[in-house]
Amino acid sequence: MTRRRPAPTPRRIAVVGAGLAGLACARTLLRAGHDVAVFETAPQPGGRMAAQDSPFGSFDSGAQYFTVRDPRFARALEITAPGLARRWSANAVRVLDERGRVIEAALPTREAHWVATPTMAALPRHWAEPLRAAGRLHLDTHVLRLARDTLDGTRWQLHAEGGADDHAVHAGFDQVLLALPAPILRHMLSISEQTEPLAEALAGVDIAPCWTLMLAFPHAAQPGLHTLGPQWNAARSTHHRIAWLARESSKPRRGPIERWTAQASAAWSREHENDDTPRATAKLLKAFAEVTGIRATPAHAEALLWRQAKTLQPLGRPFVWDAALGVGLCGDWCLGHRVEDAFVSGLELALTVAAR
Ligand SMILES: Cc1cc2nc3c(=O)[nH]c(=O)nc-3n(C[C@H](O)[C@H](O)[C@H](O)COP(=O)(O)OP(=O)(O)OC[C@H]3O[C@@H](n4cnc5c(N)ncnc54)[C@H](O)[C@@H]3O)c2cc1C
Repeated sequence: MTRRRPAPTPRRIAVVGAGLAGLACARTLLRAGHDVAVFETAPQPGGRMAAQDSPFGSFDSGAQYFTVRDPRFARALEITAPGLARRWSANAVRVLDERGRVIEAALPTREAHWVATPTMAALPRHWAEPLRAAGRLHLDTHVLRLARDTLDGTRWQLHAEGGADDHAVHAGFDQVLLALPAPILRHMLSISEQTEPLAEALAGVDIAPCWTLMLAFPHAAQPGLHTLGPQWNAARSTHHRIAWLARESSKPRRGPIERWTAQASAAWSREHENDDTPRATAKLLKAFAEVTGIRATPAHAEALLWRQAKTLQPLGRPFVWDAALGVGLCGDWCLGHRVEDAFVSGLELALTVAAR
């Protein structure tokens, strides 16, 4: 007769960061019966799976699409978010030269490109909903540092600002799981003596910034003129400023007004990290015209800088877990630079922590 392992005793666990990694982690721990609290600095969950509204329609200002390789990610989408992700016909992504000429007709991949609908932000918001409904999601709460709990030295407390209280201490956590970009973690871990050694594990991780330009051309929707410029909907570019372009309005359920998102290359974004927004907007707009041939003045032009955008050098393992300390780290940077990497990292950390 096989003996069933007793269910682990429920523990009080803090998850910091409600991007895809933090949400995958928190949901898994909640389902395993733990007492989970999620702390997020932004007013909405989602992190880099983000959308920006404009008078002409939405833009996916962070992740543009995602691919699905891990069966656990596929299952989570199918079971817990049915119908929310749709295929985007951008599969035929072109590669362009400096002047916008196609040098590779379509990337040699048949992998489906998926987008959440009506925006990319819809997926993390959907996955955050059970946490929010259970009162476990603390938005607008910026965690400054973690420290040993003053009442019980085996536990942790989080020092935070924002949220309901301006300066709050959230105490009594058996474990703390930090689902944050590596540069933020390096700082947060290095200011506490107990966690400083964990910061060293991240020394080799490199994450580049990304300037993102969002443009709308409502005049293209006039009768007889449906799209401007090129016939393709998505392209990688070798232009020294722009690395990626997508016609937002070609994505499912996005609205018809002609809208484009262009992302600067990692090298250019790093070099121009301290540019002010109007200067970066003007430079990227010029590059956009060179690549696409669209010289019309956009009715809406907005640029934003993601300071931690794309992992150039990942950690090379799915998460960091120090069982003795009770502190874990996860995020896309553990495995790569994709939405799915974030999901897998958060899931695997949670499965390890839940099983203890
Ligand atoms: C411009 C851009 C384009 C991209 N394009 C693609 C793409 O096409 N396909 C793809 O697969 N991936 C793409 N990505 C990458 C993808 O968005 C990420 O891999 C994924 O969203 C990362 O999830 P995460 O949970 O690891 O981190 P994040 O999404 O960064 O989540 C971290 C969370 O922590 C919060 N936080 C930070 N500091 C604190 C603090 N002190 N206290 C509390 N909360 C805090 C943040 O607000 C955020 O919500 C792109 C990213 C960017 C920026």
